[in-house]
Amino acid sequence: MTGVIQPDCLFCRIASGEIPAKLVHDDDLVVAFNDINARAPTHILLIPREHLTSAADLTEDHAPMLGRLFAVAAGIARDRGLADQGYRLVSNVGRAAGQSVDHLHWHLMGGRTFTWPPG
Ligand code: AMP
Ligand code: ZN
Repeated sequence: MTGVIQPDCLFCRIASGEIPAKLVHDDDLVVAFNDINARAPTHILLIPREHLTSAADLTEDHAPMLGRLFAVAAGIARDRGLADQGYRLVSNVGRAAGQSVDHLHWHLMGGRTFTWPPG
């Protein structure tokens, strides 16, 4: 399901400020905040303000938001000194991939070594 805001969606409610989160960045298109259950020394979630269920809902019309989101992610990684050692930027799509919150998000994870492929 897509739409500007879904009132019963956890990440829509974080984006609107209704549910508190440790914000790392927010602007008119994108919000970034610390993952509540960090799986790496740096574990940040980046979301569009617009409600999209997953990357499966993206179209070319989302290009401005996606440009912003990836630029913000790169900036955060640079600011935190992760760019040289490397980091992971990943979006799970659907249950089989491990998606548990149905609002499009990317995990920005860094500060440790990751294996590939993920489990
Ligand atoms: P995924 O499993 O890929 O859908 O990722 C969802 C992520 O959201 C998980 O890493 C959770 O730890 C994280 N999460 C769930 N609830 C919250 C919350 N209230 N604040 C911050 N992160 C959350
Ligand atoms: Zn949402």
